[in-house]
Amino acid sequence: MATLADTLNARTVEAAPELVEPLTGNRLRCLACGHACPIPDGAVGVCKVRFNRGGRLHVPFGYVAGVQCDPIEKKPFFHAAPGARAFSFGMLGCDLHCSYCQNWVTSQALRDPLAVVRPTDVSPAAIVDQALALHARAVVSTYNEPLITAEWGVAVFREARARGLMTAFVSNGNGTPAVLRYLAPWIDLYKVDLKSFDDRHYRQLGGRLAPILETIQALHDLGIWLEIVTLLIPGFNDSPGEIDRLTSFLAGVSPSIPWHVTAFHKDYRMTDPANTTPAMLVEAAAVGRGNGLRYVYAGNLPGRVGDLENTRCHACEALLVERHGYLVQLDRLSGVGRCAECGVEVPGRWKA
Ligand code: SF4
Repeated sequence: MATLADTLNARTVEAAPELVEPLTGNRLRCLACGHACPIPDGAVGVCKVRFNRGGRLHVPFGYVAGVQCDPIEKKPFFHAAPGARAFSFGMLGCDLHCSYCQNWVTSQALRDPLAVVRPTDVSPAAIVDQALALHARAVVSTYNEPLITAEWGVAVFREARARGLMTAFVSNGNGTPAVLRYLAPWIDLYKVDLKSFDDRHYRQLGGRLAPILETIQALHDLGIWLEIVTLLIPGFNDSPGEIDRLTSFLAGVSPSIPWHVTAFHKDYRMTDPANTTPAMLVEAAAVGRGNGLRYVYAGNLPGRVGDLENTRCHACEALLVERHGYLVQLDRLSGVGRCAECGVEVPGRWKA
């Protein structure tokens, strides 16, 4: 019987030329994520889904391992089309190996024998057909790390854009200048999961902090709408000093970047830390606000974090979008993008 790796290897195309750097012999360097793996002929990259065969880089294409239609708030995007439906699709594999991953069944499919998901063959047009049939306004590459399947993401996004949909990545942000240049013409919204502000913590997860910070700055400079999420894990990334440095960095890129601080619950292999409490989220949010971030949200504990699910005008504090979890109860920004009370512009993607 074919292994999962065999099955996936048969569902590949050659990498976009922009994402490959030839090295000596038949070796090449992949530029799709911050690992920038040098890959000898016959070997795979760290993500295990991009591989060198005969001096050519083969990359995943033509399948999904999961699809779902949800409110865009679940991604979470709070400053883009409030209440819109977002059609999510994902492939398999990841360039990190976070022990608390909530999507480990897809992200760790080639590392963990317990993660058993099979691919379903599909075309970009069929994905967009399905999204439109479900009245989605955006398609989102998520569930696994979309940077490592960037060519497939762009193929779907080309089709989606042509048919009037927004496009989005939900990503760990471990990018490179090359992959961001490749994606920029096709992507409207980008969520980066900023997991920590300590390089030692990132190395535990299989990455480094520097490429993630560079990606955040580059996405902002490219004008792609950017929101940041930090899953607050007690004892891992929640020290006041770390949250202070993290939010200072974000405010330095732009005080208008929405920052979502969300509650951890025990998942996958990380079962030691206690679950995050509402008070912990409120405290971290106060640090972010204190550092100048204008839009700070607390997530995963609906109805338990006071006003931290809502969008208020940064100038006059007027209530502009009221939420309970993923449910939008009041929306005064769609189609307008300005405060209904004082008229100040509120950053985001509010117009169709
Ligand atoms: S996507 Fe990242 S991990 Fe995978 S081969 Fe390319 S550089 Fe390596």
